[in-house]
Amino acid sequence: MSKITPIRFGISNLTLIQDSGMIVVDTGCQSEKEAYVEAFAKLGINPKDIKLIVITHAHWDHCSRVNELKELTGAPVLCHKNAAPVLQKGEWLEFKPRGEVGKRFIELIANDAADIIKPINPDIIVDSEFDLTPFGVAGKTIYTPGHSDCSISVVLDSGEAIMGDILRESPFDGKLCLAFIATDEEKLVDSVRNLLKIKALHTFYGGHDGPHTREVVSQLAR
Ligand SMILES: [Zn+2]
Repeated sequence: MSKITPIRFGISNLTLIQDSGMIVVDTGCQSEKEAYVEAFAKLGINPKDIKLIVITHAHWDHCSRVNELKELTGAPVLCHKNAAPVLQKGEWLEFKPRGEVGKRFIELIANDAADIIKPINPDIIVDSEFDLTPFGVAGKTIYTPGHSDCSISVVLDSGEAIMGDILRESPFDGKLCLAFIATDEEKLVDSVRNLLKIKALHTFYGGHDGPHTREVVSQLAR
């Protein structure tokens, strides 16, 4: 049974998954290395016991601190093959708005201070599925495009999914909705439906919020 602990750094979450081994999903952002050291110490965790860093997608707020985390943990970095060139160049992956909420969101964050992304070479580059059991976590990553063309989700045998930004609470009314940033709306809906096809999944974590119930998520993908 995996234990899931989302930890806030800046505007997004690093999600710690503890099973017989330990991995993290995404890096959070806007935080210095010391903040990570403190957060792990508070949880009684030795960063060197973290065996893998999964990047759900290459938007800056999910991966900008990957260099710091890799240094701290010594863990390999895993991402989708479409995220790899972005990370290697330290580029910004564009936020493509979907609908009115997306446009208003882009305006809302226009003046926010974003992190500079330092280039990094990912160690493990995945395409479709990737088994996480060699890292001590019963589960896998699956490709879930739509929010970006490099989005992956972590699906655990114990019934939880950590899915980056496929779903996100609206900053305007707080309600959970399909990603209002999306490169492909059709693929986005398909990705959520594909996750829901996994009957064992009961709990869903976003990159900024959650947990959300299966019932709430199901309503968005009708
Ligand atoms: Zn994103």
